[in-house]
Amino acid sequence: QVVSVWIPGDQLLLDHPALREAEKDYPREDIYVVLIESRERICQLPYQRKKIVLLLSAMRHYAERLRVRGYQVELLRSDSFISGLLDHVRRQQPVRLLTMAASEYDTRQLQQKRLAAELGVSVAVLPNSQFLIEFYNPIPRPQPGKRYVMEHFYHAMRRHYGILLDDNGEPTGGQWNYDKLNRQGLPAHLHVPAIPTFQPDAITRDVIGLVESMDHGVGSARDFDLAVTHEQAQHLLKTFIAERLTDFGPYEDAMSSQSSSLYHSQLSPYINIGLLDPLDAVQAAEVAYYQHRAPIQSVEGFVRQILGWREFMYWQYWQQMPGLRHANSWHGHRRMPQMFWDGLTDMKCVQHIARRVLDTGYSNHIERLMVICNFCLLSGIDPYEVSNWFLSCYVDAYDWVVLPNVVGMGMNSDDGYTATKPYIASANYINKMSDYCNGCRYSCKQRSGPDACPFNVLYWNFLIEHEQTLRSNPRMGPSVLGLRHLDLQERKEITEDARQFLSHLAYYPATDSVPGP
Ligand code: FAD
Repeated sequence: QVVSVWIPGDQLLLDHPALREAEKDYPREDIYVVLIESRERICQLPYQRKKIVLLLSAMRHYAERLRVRGYQVELLRSDSFISGLLDHVRRQQPVRLLTMAASEYDTRQLQQKRLAAELGVSVAVLPNSQFLIEFYNPIPRPQPGKRYVMEHFYHAMRRHYGILLDDNGEPTGGQWNYDKLNRQGLPAHLHVPAIPTFQPDAITRDVIGLVESMDHGVGSARDFDLAVTHEQAQHLLKTFIAERLTDFGPYEDAMSSQSSSLYHSQLSPYINIGLLDPLDAVQAAEVAYYQHRAPIQSVEGFVRQILGWREFMYWQYWQQMPGLRHANSWHGHRRMPQMFWDGLTDMKCVQHIARRVLDTGYSNHIERLMVICNFCLLSGIDPYEVSNWFLSCYVDAYDWVVLPNVVGMGMNSDDGYTATKPYIASANYINKMSDYCNGCRYSCKQRSGPDACPFNVLYWNFLIEHEQTLRSNPRMGPSVLGLRHLDLQERKEITEDARQFLSHLAYYPATDSVPGP
């Protein structure tokens, strides 16, 4: 008699709960681990090719690791998860199938509602161990309709996990938050240490060949150089702590035409698929602080990203699904602008960021929030289309993280559950936080006219169009007050400029109609 363990490709944990559970009753040679490369899942959208290489190569390396540890491992290429599992169950006739709850809604529905019936075998779905709120949830029973802010959630997480606390249980350094110190633009000459890259081995080279032959996708797999094993991901964490954490805080919100990553960690692709443990990353940063290798403002900033934002977003996702996918508070109905799919635009910021995302699958959080989502919210783009663009283009994109970040945070389209105000800004913000406006064909100073930066035209147009709604939000007061500087004539010009701009913009077809492979 054998038992089976199905491990989805974003759960490549060294210590997997389903394996631990299986080992309570079975020796390793009777435990079949099933990993499925599902064509249906891989082709759901035209995905970033580097992401598919990362996932498939990391799965294959993980399979090798489990074989060495003595498990039976089946790595199957199938049409879908179900067809792969059916095929496996027919051949091996396990007494039971164990699996860990997926972080994504659709796969978890499949596990909990259909799997046992479709496979005709008993199925146990174990709690997900990739998120810290699965062990301690600061808001286990939220009141319906009540809005919760990240800050309180984050304090509770710090207290529970004992991170950056002094002997009295108070925040180290006296403050929970050092954001005020962390909003610096980049000085002109700055040395940003390079992030280590990895030569593809034979397994990765095979996967690159496979992915290059797929006929739809974003970017190229040929220059793939990301980590694909736990050891390589650990090396990246160590290098980040040693070389970039110190400057992470001050320049956390900066943007540069030279580099997207700057002092960011670029660890999300690995944390999201189980190659790195979130608590390990948080504790590594904390140790650096206590050993005087990094200042509190940087360490706290990094800890906040993982223990605060990452966990809060996962919490929001599970509060708001399945409605979050189509939430649309600002009633945006335009398609995604074509320029995000090809980088062809005179707007220097969008051009640089879109090209880099299409090429590398990465941009930092301020570029995602204050350039891409800001533009899309101001332009009335449908949040569903925006989230599909993110899901397609980024190496670290998964449903649980894209929907709250894009629909909730960036597009402010979930009735303010994730963010209590829309993150909108004019070109002034982009000019302050980046070098993009230097040499751009548009003027970041003009509010209307043919040379005005579209961010200005669209920003003021958004305020005019939604003035009443924005006035009712106390956090938007100062922005709306700015409207008093516009006389009737200028309001008309802005509205007309925005209408012209949006009607001349090229739009990508609806993502549901993107042809499959
Ligand atoms: P760092 O700045 O070094 O931060 C450290 C880590 O904190 C990240 O690796 C990540 O694990 C975590 N983190 C920080 N902020 C968030 C957050 N808001 N949500 C979840 N984790 C967070 N993150 C993704 O992992 N995948 C996405 O598809 C994604 N889409 C986003 C879309 C928008 C519109 C926005 C505003 C944010 C999005 N994020 C996403 C969150 C954040 O931008 C990325 O996690 C971060 O940019 C990844 O780069 P990094 O590893 O260099 O991050």
